[in-house]
Amino acid sequence: MSETSPAPSLAVQRSAPARPELSIVVPVHNEADNLPLLVERLKSVLTGAVSSWEMICVDDGSRDGSLSVLRLLNASDPRINAVSFSRNFGKEIAIAAGLDHASGDAVVIMDADLQHPPETILTFLAKWREGYLNIYGQRADRSGESRLKRGFAKAFYRVFASFGETELPEGAGDFRLLDRRVVDALRALPERARFSKGLYAWVGFPSTGVTFEVAERQHGVTKFSFRKLFSFAFDGLSSFSTVPLKVATWTGVIIALISTFSAMFFLLRTLLYGTDLPGFPSLIVSIMFFSGIQLISLGLIGEYVGRIFAEVKRRPLYLIGERVGFNARAVDHPRGDALPPLIR
Ligand code: UDP
Ligand code: MG
Repeated sequence: MSETSPAPSLAVQRSAPARPELSIVVPVHNEADNLPLLVERLKSVLTGAVSSWEMICVDDGSRDGSLSVLRLLNASDPRINAVSFSRNFGKEIAIAAGLDHASGDAVVIMDADLQHPPETILTFLAKWREGYLNIYGQRADRSGESRLKRGFAKAFYRVFASFGETELPEGAGDFRLLDRRVVDALRALPERARFSKGLYAWVGFPSTGVTFEVAERQHGVTKFSFRKLFSFAFDGLSSFSTVPLKVATWTGVIIALISTFSAMFFLLRTLLYGTDLPGFPSLIVSIMFFSGIQLISLGLIGEYVGRIFAEVKRRPLYLIGERVGFNARAVDHPRGDALPPLIR
């Protein structure tokens, strides 16, 4: 290839809408009261800090009029865009959709409830300009959360570290800044089970943490119950590790060994001392114990088969009901392509 080859596409690139320097992706589920406040705080932080920015709110099936609030916000500032799902798909998928629609050179992901202080974005930007590509916010302390929740979180990180092949930085959540290269890498991951905390760590790239204080939720209540957090934790473990399956295998091997030795013991005892009938309770107990283990192992395999089933169905990750804003720029989102592009 010659070094001085002309670039005929340059004129086209110039006339196309410029990519903003920063995109802010916000998953939104019933946050109508928080959104105007969030936009206000973001505007005052971002003015002067970046040359241009856009905001992408993903309305994840809200029922409190969040979408009309977003429409109003877009009317007063076209940098605020919104994607509205056809129903609630969950925060992880909302983030994936936000990344699909973001066009900035860097993308910040943050919650809508102002628990992630917008001021921390300035530190993220400083680290990004130093050359880090994957910058995660780390909670300074979890004192705002109940002791039980903190205990479970700690246990989860410990189990994940010993089971998974991927290391999770402790206290890192979804509040982070990702360089375009990291975003493209994440978007190229095809899986439907999106444990994004694990995916961010899995893609790698030069990473660093920035501590921040978790603020109080401004309005409304948390959407994550204990049940949801548990199933989230199991999703994380099962999509990053096959160790639970191996546990079943090893338990089986150990029990088989024990039963071989006990069979030999009973055989010898019978040969030497003859038979006697007692032992009924121990028989029942051991039958119950082994059927329990078998059921647990079957259930574990079932969980993985279920996940394989969800992946092979190849359904789109999300369905979009409506897009607000985007200045009619084409949005390329391979995972939601079941619907024709709906640009309003
Ligand atoms: N969220 C979402 N879909 C859901 C649940 C939550 O998009 O099904 C959003 C929510 O609007 C917020 C963020 O995810 O912006 C974090 O949710 P929340 O504050 O309830 O969680 P917590 O901070 O308690 O972990
Ligand atoms: Mg919150």
